[in-house]
Amino acid sequence: MRPEFNALKDHPDLSVLIVGGGINGIGCFNELALQGIDVLLVEKSDFCAGTSAAMTRVIHGGLRYLENAEFRLVRESLRERNRLFRNAPHYVKPLPTTIPIFNWTSGMVPAIRNLLRWPTRPGDRGAVVIKSGLTLYDLLAGRHSPLPRHTFRSRSEALALRPSLNPGILCTATYYDARITYPERLCLELVQDAEAACPQARALNYVRLHSASGGEVTLRDELSGSTCTVRPRIVVNAAGAWIDGVNRDLGRPSQFIGGTKGSHIVLDHPELVRETGDDMIYFVNRDGRICIFYAVQGKIVAGATDIPTSDPETSCDEAEVDYILHAMQQAFPAIRVNRSHVVFRFCGVRPLPRSNALTPGQISRDHSFPVLPPGNGIDFPIYSLVGGKWTTFRALAEQVTNEILRVLGRPRLRSSAHIPIGGGKGYPRLPQGTGLSQDRLLSLQERYGTGADSVAAYLLAGPDSPLASLPRYSLREIEFIARNERVLHLDDLILRRTLIGLLGEATRPVIEELAAVVAPVLQWPPQTASAEVARTIHLLQSVHGMSFND
Ligand SMILES: Cc1cc2nc3c(=O)[nH]c(=O)nc-3n(C[C@H](O)[C@H](O)[C@H](O)COP(=O)(O)OP(=O)(O)OC[C@H]3O[C@@H](n4cnc5c(N)ncnc54)[C@H](O)[C@@H]3O)c2cc1C
Repeated sequence: MRPEFNALKDHPDLSVLIVGGGINGIGCFNELALQGIDVLLVEKSDFCAGTSAAMTRVIHGGLRYLENAEFRLVRESLRERNRLFRNAPHYVKPLPTTIPIFNWTSGMVPAIRNLLRWPTRPGDRGAVVIKSGLTLYDLLAGRHSPLPRHTFRSRSEALALRPSLNPGILCTATYYDARITYPERLCLELVQDAEAACPQARALNYVRLHSASGGEVTLRDELSGSTCTVRPRIVVNAAGAWIDGVNRDLGRPSQFIGGTKGSHIVLDHPELVRETGDDMIYFVNRDGRICIFYAVQGKIVAGATDIPTSDPETSCDEAEVDYILHAMQQAFPAIRVNRSHVVFRFCGVRPLPRSNALTPGQISRDHSFPVLPPGNGIDFPIYSLVGGKWTTFRALAEQVTNEILRVLGRPRLRSSAHIPIGGGKGYPRLPQGTGLSQDRLLSLQERYGTGADSVAAYLLAGPDSPLASLPRYSLREIEFIARNERVLHLDDLILRRTLIGLLGEATRPVIEELAAVVAPVLQWPPQTASAEVARTIHLLQSVHGMSFND
């Protein structure tokens, strides 16, 4: 049995139990730890393995939410976006976003109806509507925004820059948001920072909330199958799309969530990488739905769909792949894009509130945290974190924490607003005097921020060599991750500690070589290493659409 799980048996009493280790659960965990609260977070899978790993990887104010007249939400999101530039500069980088525009006046009537809060289906947006929206967006970002203001390009300028762009355009508009290069790693860093800040804060991956009775909650270690009970004063249900299922397991059924699934595909398409350049292309389909695509480390990430679902474990289906490919083809009709270019797919379910909106895109992306008071044989209150965006995790965590501190009668000790996260501390310092090449140091900095210091020191402490199957990584770098970054399954390493999975690089030889490096560190006997290889291949085939016909 894992010693950390076993230790819970000796200390079953705690102030707060958080269920769910996505960005919202982890954000609350970090915020409570900063206040010195004894808090336990349990995640049934790996940290950031649910919807938080399925995001478009954009830290944004939500230009589209202006159409729903959600000005407060956009202002809050822009404020949090700007904070993340400061607090996570190693992973949050400017992202110019270009919108191809096909006419002057489309969308004006729907825009006015939306402002008046009359139900309207979205449609095409013309230059006038987009100009108004972007002007307001820049205004809401404030005078101290770290990003430039929007600009327009004429048709000829736009086509000179991107010759394959749809020639039917009238012009393009470019505005600025941010990309997040490693959202999964930022989640891990928030966990590690929290545990370092507060000895009474503990987060465990692969531990599932099983059931509850009276004041006791039963947890199950997903690795060994063993169980234990804890006695929290407050439960925070941060299970995202699983929230209603978790409340049912807690004995307090709810109907908070009306999820929508969103899928992305990753394409190996050098021509599209050249055409998109540094920009995200924000393409509005004729039906009013938005498709975005942009280059991530030489591949194209494209998405996302928005389809109502009640299944939190759903995956990207063929119709969604066709839909995204079709939208890309409309944006760049001169470039052939088809299924042979798709190397990876991913999907997640937005934990949105139940709603009667006309279209999924019109359901508010704002967050709330309804409380189920003690009752029905359960002695503790449950706060469910409904809705929200990745971008606004800190604001949600701050609000929930204020409420929890009030209930516990504890003071707020610190604000997280200005605290750098993980490898964002002291960024952009490079490790000094290591003897590693400048290129290697820069690649470590790109992956770990100032955490590159510890990685570089580890690389130099023993003989190292590039992986035979993926020379961008070295043997000791993988060992470092396995040793220090809470890896319990091989797919944690491939899908969440690195971009190997996302970029479609997890071929059989890569998976086998990684298993061979990790096995001695995690003391896997040969049969466990083989089982991990099989588990990873199955996951990549069944969930991420990869094929291993070798
Ligand atoms: C397609 C798509 C694109 C998006 N793009 C963006 C974007 O670019 N920018 C942005 O700001 N936002 C974006 N979002 C929104 C954002 O990703 C989500 O709002 C956010 O990740 C939700 O996080 P969460 O922590 O609430 O849920 P999750 O990340 O799903 O976390 C919930 C966790 O609870 C765990 N859990 C469930 N049951 C149990 C149990 N019984 N015991 C223990 N653990 C349990 C799950 O395993 C899961 O890990 C996007 C969402 C989607 C779907």
